[in-house]
Amino acid sequence: MKARIEELRENLAKVEEQIQGALRLASRNREEVTLVVVTKTYPVEDLLALYELGVRNFGENRDQEGSLKAPHLPSDTHWHFQGQIQSRKIPSLVQWADSIHSLDSLEHAAKFEKLPNSEKLNYFVQINLEEGADHRGGVSVNEVGSFLESCTLPITGAMVVAPLGSDPVVAFSKVKKIADEHGLKEISMGMSGDFEAALVAGATHIRVGSSILGSRSLLA
Ligand SMILES: *Cc1c(COP(=O)(O)O)cnc(C)c1O
Repeated sequence: MKARIEELRENLAKVEEQIQGALRLASRNREEVTLVVVTKTYPVEDLLALYELGVRNFGENRDQEGSLKAPHLPSDTHWHFQGQIQSRKIPSLVQWADSIHSLDSLEHAAKFEKLPNSEKLNYFVQINLEEGADHRGGVSVNEVGSFLESCTLPITGAMVVAPLGSDPVVAFSKVKKIADEHGLKEISMGMSGDFEAALVAGATHIRVGSSILGSRSLLA
């Protein structure tokens, strides 16, 4: 059986090749893009192997999981949180996360702001492109402007999950346009299935899990 680290090395190399290919198409530089490796449900051993392979940006969806994993990695690791924010978990999130990709509530923003050290975090507003159903969270497109005006936290980026069944190219260019309109320099979009389209559309952060770690459903 192949060692896990070799498997991760190969997957990472494959993803890196795809990143380079997409960036070449768009005449963009690799330095403009952060690959966030989404490690939710995977054990700390995998994260340590990825660290050894050079990964410094990890993404988690649950405070409970991220807060347990973070202390096991060296301090030059950057932790991204992209899960649904629960108000009571905010004090814990501030302890371990460096970037919050999923801010979508002014109440949550106010709660972050009251906490010491919250100014050290980077914040992305999550945009919801699904009309009506908003189970994935996010601020709807026509409310982004007022959200940013009322929000007292410094928001530097926009984040989106392309709606199921939508054309990701259309979704990602919409978000790029919204980000530009509001002067948001960072754009977090693109997952295993659609990160190349996201890179062509201007993503600065892509969040890739299963292409590197394997399919999560196999673990169940
Ligand atoms: C799980 C998750 C990802 C990574 O998804 P993959 O398809 O495994 O690459 C990215 N973004 C969010 C918000 C996620 O929940």
